[in-house]
Amino acid sequence: MPQITLKIDADTYRGTRQGVPNLVQQLLRHGANATFLFSLGPDHTGWALKQVFRPGFFSKVSRTSVVEHYGLKTLMYGTLLPAPDIGKTCGDFMRAARDAGFECGIHTWDHRVWQDHVRARDAAWTQNIMQRSYARFREIFGHDPVTHGAAGWQMNEHAFVQLDKFGITYSSDGRALLKEDGTLADPAAGPHRLGTNGSTLSCVQLPTTLPTLDEILGREINGKLIDASNAAAFLLALTKQQPRDHVFTLHAELEGQKLAPIFEQLLLGWRAQGYELVSMGEYFQSIEGQLLPVLPITWGELPGRSGDLILQAA
Ligand SMILES: [Zn+2]
Repeated sequence: MPQITLKIDADTYRGTRQGVPNLVQQLLRHGANATFLFSLGPDHTGWALKQVFRPGFFSKVSRTSVVEHYGLKTLMYGTLLPAPDIGKTCGDFMRAARDAGFECGIHTWDHRVWQDHVRARDAAWTQNIMQRSYARFREIFGHDPVTHGAAGWQMNEHAFVQLDKFGITYSSDGRALLKEDGTLADPAAGPHRLGTNGSTLSCVQLPTTLPTLDEILGREINGKLIDASNAAAFLLALTKQQPRDHVFTLHAELEGQKLAPIFEQLLLGWRAQGYELVSMGEYFQSIEGQLLPVLPITWGELPGRSGDLILQAA
């Protein structure tokens, strides 16, 4: 039976306190498994407000309605309001997800800082930030993290090496290349290892293979405008058309809040299509021992998202 791995990124303070508990309840109702990845340090989402004055921002706002989904307060953290420390103040919400039976891992320390800077930073900067998330995770959960998923699919070579040093055996830090219509550019895309500086890293990468909701909402695909009324049908058509293992990334701030009705349709639809809904750990177990391709670290763009991100090499 093919599997869909549900990888849930919690980016913000609000998403962690409201979106995560909502998703836990929704997943339990459906008997679906998933992995929650947490932002463990300060919430500087408000720095995004500065982008309001950059060209091109308004088209993005109208597409995903940032204020509606993130809330005005979230958009002020780090600017008009002090940045809350998510790990320090939301430990109970994170442990509640774990105690409900869900795998938990590291998303990032400070989402904005990581997403905007990691690509160009050196080993010392990268290790310092990753050590902070690692230590905070241990503080909250009382054990070592087993998995990771990079904020904004941004990494650098040192960060991949650090995952190995932490003993992280599987991680989801990049994306498979998608065509404009959302289908996979390479039908064989999926789990792989990364090679860097002549050596192969041991951590297995489980790339996201489907578009995210914020990448499709408001876009015209195959001559049809995707909105809240047909987004689930669009994604369900993709998984029906490509019956294979997939990794779907969702956000505590979106599917855990205003977009919950779309996620509800997805859960029902994927079940009806015969998919098993699993955590990253379960997916990893199902492929453990397979001979996986070793690929270089590469960057590229995806339809519906601006800027380069870690993309599985062809
Ligand atoms: Zn994120």
